[in-house]
Amino acid sequence: MSIKAQKGTKDILPNEIANWQNIEKVAYETFSKANFKEIRTPIFEDTNLFERGVGDTTDIVNKEMYTFIKSDRSITLRPENTAGVVRAYMEHGFHRESPPVKLWYKGPMFRYERPQAGRQRQFHQIGVEMFGVQDASADAECIMLATEFLKGLGLNDLVVEINSLGCNACRKEYKEQLKKAIAPFLEGLCEDCRSRYEKNPLRILDCKNETCNKLFEEYKLKDTVSGIKLCGECSDHYSKLKEYLNALNIKYEENTFLVRGLDYYTKTVFEIKSNNLGSQNAVCGGGRYDGLVETLGGPHTPAVGWAMGVERLNALIPKVDENKIDYFVVSDVQLEAVKLVSKLRNNGFSAEFDYNSRKFAKQLEKASKIANFALILGEDEIKNNYITVKNLSDSTQTKMKFEEIVKR
Ligand SMILES: [Zn+2]
Ligand SMILES: [Zn+2]
Repeated sequence: MSIKAQKGTKDILPNEIANWQNIEKVAYETFSKANFKEIRTPIFEDTNLFERGVGDTTDIVNKEMYTFIKSDRSITLRPENTAGVVRAYMEHGFHRESPPVKLWYKGPMFRYERPQAGRQRQFHQIGVEMFGVQDASADAECIMLATEFLKGLGLNDLVVEINSLGCNACRKEYKEQLKKAIAPFLEGLCEDCRSRYEKNPLRILDCKNETCNKLFEEYKLKDTVSGIKLCGECSDHYSKLKEYLNALNIKYEENTFLVRGLDYYTKTVFEIKSNNLGSQNAVCGGGRYDGLVETLGGPHTPAVGWAMGVERLNALIPKVDENKIDYFVVSDVQLEAVKLVSKLRNNGFSAEFDYNSRKFAKQLEKASKIANFALILGEDEIKNNYITVKNLSDSTQTKMKFEEIVKR
């Protein structure tokens, strides 16, 4: 029996890679303009990092981590990258540098979930993290970076949803209010919601379970609770964010029930949805996490960031054409073909030839699939020291010297 790729994993094939490379290129260009630097952290980390960093009331930590023991150490394949970036930030003393520290990452993440359309066990994320700025200008910059990136990929119909979860003090009263409102139908809620009730009742609002959602509607949960009453500082921060977004011409909608699936968010949370392909799809989620660096053993450090799923982006954005090479050398004299190909490459062109020296018709057929121009090097060409250049998009032919080709 032949071995197949694991359930929930996928080969990214050469005919799809142009789309991936395009996303990575636009990410690099967009983030570089804002002086964000790329960081690459290891794919596996100490399990503790995620238990403490992602939060032990999250589905990610409770059900979805790939954890294994090696030499008595518990190791986990990263289910997200923020915790790893924060660990690296502390380990390399970035917190002693003058703020802000602006980082971005890309790479595979791992979650043990039921695979379905657009959801894989090994999936890819691109994200940014910005450390050291308390002011809402950092939140606005991160949101702007996300919208610029998405626009750069051809997604224009964007909806930015924002909310503020406040600080622990702001949330305390809201948690009590929520618990009171939920108590009458708590027994009917899913197991997750029942365990969140004590640990983190806010997360109940995030439940995707149908039965739970029906109960929320039946008991008019979203009408009975007022939303978080922000303290002075948090409310200032939130108004400032809105001022910045207005100044940057970023349209947003406020959604008081936006809570996000992770435990570490404070103040700002946001989601960006795209209306491409007819239906609304969340493509980006993020927020402020002022307590996380401290939770992981570092000094108090304000921070904000977001992540996007690359598979999801790929499904929504226009497909990029596969890159064609510049020249395909068509010849039955292989030694001459090899020499020409090598000269072309040395002059900065991409070039290829037929290793099997098949009939010219076959070679031209191959050339038209993979190259922009065919360079024909037959008996006459070699004898008279010229090359027949065939434009493969309109089939026109011209005779040229090698030097002329190089100059084009
Ligand atoms: Zn507050
Ligand atoms: Zn639930």
